[in-house]
Amino acid sequence: MKRRVKELEQRNYSGQNEFLVTIDCSHLEGNARDSMSPALHDIAELEPSELETLLADSGSEPFHGRQIYRWIYRYGVTDFGRMTDLSRALRARLPDQFVINTPRIVSDETSADGTRKLALELADGRRIESVFIPDTPSMTFCVSTQVGCAMGCGFCLTGKMGLVRNLTAGEIAGQVRVLAGATGLLDQPFNIVLMGMGEPLHNYEHTMKALRMLHSEHGLSISPRRVTLSTVGLVPGLERLAREPLMPNLAISLHATTEAQRTALVPPNTRYPLAAILETCRRFPLKKRSRITFEYVMLDGVNDTPDDARRLVKLLAGIKSKVNLIPLNPAPGIPYDRPSDERVNRFVQILADRHITVSVRKSRGRDIRAACGQLIVEGGSKKTAAQQMALLMGSGVIFPTPSRGK
Ligand code: SAH
Ligand code: SF4
Repeated sequence: MKRRVKELEQRNYSGQNEFLVTIDCSHLEGNARDSMSPALHDIAELEPSELETLLADSGSEPFHGRQIYRWIYRYGVTDFGRMTDLSRALRARLPDQFVINTPRIVSDETSADGTRKLALELADGRRIESVFIPDTPSMTFCVSTQVGCAMGCGFCLTGKMGLVRNLTAGEIAGQVRVLAGATGLLDQPFNIVLMGMGEPLHNYEHTMKALRMLHSEHGLSISPRRVTLSTVGLVPGLERLAREPLMPNLAISLHATTEAQRTALVPPNTRYPLAAILETCRRFPLKKRSRITFEYVMLDGVNDTPDDARRLVKLLAGIKSKVNLIPLNPAPGIPYDRPSDERVNRFVQILADRHITVSVRKSRGRDIRAACGQLIVEGGSKKTAAQQMALLMGSGVIFPTPSRGK
């Protein structure tokens, strides 16, 4: 049954609905079963209004929901006994009805450059990684949305592991709670990039619910302007995102300048081709002064030629855009190489000369193999497997040139 579920998920690039059907059976394992028993609600999965409704249903005052939410998100307290502004009677009663699941830190490594990688264990024993990248210039948390990924991009280790399961909204928001607690940033501003493991638009409902939970004034009050959603470009998901009241910044993983080249690198391109993605981007509602970031992983001799650069300029015409070049993080099993600095610089120059704002993503956390988009853990086991890589994130070298009146 499980294998069948996985196969269905791997073939399904767009279908959030099919996915919602499969997720229940794919992650009810181990202690998750206990904590998800119908008698106990996991507060980590609830928006404030949902918590208030459940409290009211059980005869408590709804405003206690806001107090509980504050404890969890603002103070990192998940023990009801320590929620001292609740009555003793309520504190004693809450564990009969609720749990608060929080990803557990199983390893915590800090790189020489300050990048910090946490391996987190979820309620069912699956593992994910979340990364803290300081001073980029802001503090940034790189968060996963799935265990593994179904998209199968040829240069990505996460893609190699296939999809194990979606993360729940509570698990996505939980990474931010844990990172903010571990770094002492619960009451400080930080950015969130959905650039860890997984394709956020392939787990649309849970990703957006997590953003609503994090945005709540009773929680961390994170503005959508501080969140960047990076996607391979699933067009129905993009269209849905365009109608969201809480809209994060958008980053599109483009990586190629012709349909054939992109299909070879990014398999979902067969279903949602480059042309359709760019057309959707042209219509995408952007706030004043905001732009779509186009990420472009550079692969030596594959997509890094001057012709590619010139084609990229043409493709982006009419889109308020900036380009983030990511020289490949090579890894065993990835059949591509990282281009030389000369090739990267030549590509940058062509874009900059044509007034495209372009930055090159800098290596961060190389010594601890911490890089968003290059995270891989062994599905189903508690062991971290072949994690590879290095770099990423960080503002890198920026070539700010006036955008082309877009
Ligand atoms: N699935 C989403 C978000 C996670 S991947 C997406 O693809 O956008 C985040 C970023 O890491 C993407 O731009 C992805 O292309 C990049 N990435 C993946 N593997 C990489 C590698 N080996 N070297 C450099 N960047 C990589
Ligand atoms: Fe998935 Fe993004 Fe990796 Fe592609 S690059 S396989 S979409 S995580």
